[in-house]
Amino acid sequence: MFVDKATITVIAGRGGDGAVSFHREKYIAAGGPDGGDGGKGGDVILVADDNMSTLMDFKYKRKYTAGNGGNGAGRMCTGRDGENLYLKVPRGTLVIDKETGAVIQDMSEVDSFVIARGGRGGWGNKRFATPTRQAPRFAKPGLPGQEREIILELKLLADVGLVGFPNVGKSTMLSVVSKANPKIANYHFTTLYPNLGVVYVGEGNSFVMADIPGLIEGASEGTGLGHDFLRHIERCRLIVHIVDVSGSEGRDPVEDFETINAELISYSPELLSRPQIVVGNKIDIVQDPSLPEKLKTYVEARGYRYFEISAAAHKGTRELVLAIAEELSHLPPVRVFRSEYVEPETVPETPDDLIYTAENGVYSIEGAWMERLIGSVNFSDYESRMYFERRLRDAGVYERLEEMGIQEGDAVRIYDLEFEYKK
Ligand code: GDP
Ligand code: MG
Repeated sequence: MFVDKATITVIAGRGGDGAVSFHREKYIAAGGPDGGDGGKGGDVILVADDNMSTLMDFKYKRKYTAGNGGNGAGRMCTGRDGENLYLKVPRGTLVIDKETGAVIQDMSEVDSFVIARGGRGGWGNKRFATPTRQAPRFAKPGLPGQEREIILELKLLADVGLVGFPNVGKSTMLSVVSKANPKIANYHFTTLYPNLGVVYVGEGNSFVMADIPGLIEGASEGTGLGHDFLRHIERCRLIVHIVDVSGSEGRDPVEDFETINAELISYSPELLSRPQIVVGNKIDIVQDPSLPEKLKTYVEARGYRYFEISAAAHKGTRELVLAIAEELSHLPPVRVFRSEYVEPETVPETPDDLIYTAENGVYSIEGAWMERLIGSVNFSDYESRMYFERRLRDAGVYERLEEMGIQEGDAVRIYDLEFEYKK
């Protein structure tokens, strides 16, 4: 079993509700409103982890929920913020929007990313106090947190991908030239797992090599496993193609070489143009020298560089590593996927869309722009009220009311607010 793709639902926390409460003191009949705001809901945050190499953790659990914000309380007590939920994912994970298939974020580029935002806490009744409404008996409920279904897709960040038939010596090659990722040993299915190893070439010069197994096994079993692994090669800057040239299994190296290449190209035609080095392995047990010779002639005629090694006997491996490093120094960096996710379009909120109505000397104004403005103003605060006034003036709201014939002393009603019009 190998997991490198998982679909999960992330749900951010709900904001806490604002409180309705009034100050109480002995011998004082009715104190002012003192209901505090609800706390903010927790975010769901993805964290790129360099030591993780599978999406195994996401296989059995589908839903991930951050903490809800606490409700506000009397004495101006604000609810506590909901706890953030941190989800660790392997560094090379792509985060995709399930609905549209668009890439939201490539986790190789960032250390953390907020995938679902917690809801805002509701305002307590203290905030709704105005000079004309000193005892508001209402507060706002908290807003729900963002919920989204996402696909996590792991694409390894390797400079070099080792490909080839099973048993040609890919794992041996990786273990010989690198310190294999020790985490791998924890899993039972090591042989069906793309191992990553860092190859140290010399002072300050190293590269990451991945052993991509199962290319043919999976495909022939019809499980599609092979193609799942091919996903990882997409990001490699260089392909190192290992061919068993010993003839010990009675196979033809040229045929093997072509079969694997055909597999790569059927996955992604773009891989055809990916630089490739061809390596004949197991030269220590070659019986028929014409086999490696044939492969060498064949691939060199097609413009590939060809090397011969014995991975098991560490022969030619150092030369190969140097050649790979040299090749990489001319190649562009590992491909990073750009975010292509566009936030669903929201209708722009402008003062031009406000709806004005006049009835029996009461002038009402409604609209998204106004709702948002009201949500951002603390009416118990003088400066905040001045800000509100200014915004209305700048937006031409008063001008518009005058056009409608408003007179001094008429009432202006904006949702819960009501005040007398003064010039
Ligand atoms: P993979 O399936 O491509 O990862 O192949 P492995 O690295 O697991 O190797 C398969 C078998 O070939 C193992 O028994 C290795 O010991 C053997 N092998 C690998 N490289 C060489 C080599 O250079 N010479 C010889 N004689 N055997 C090798
Ligand atoms: Mg292997």
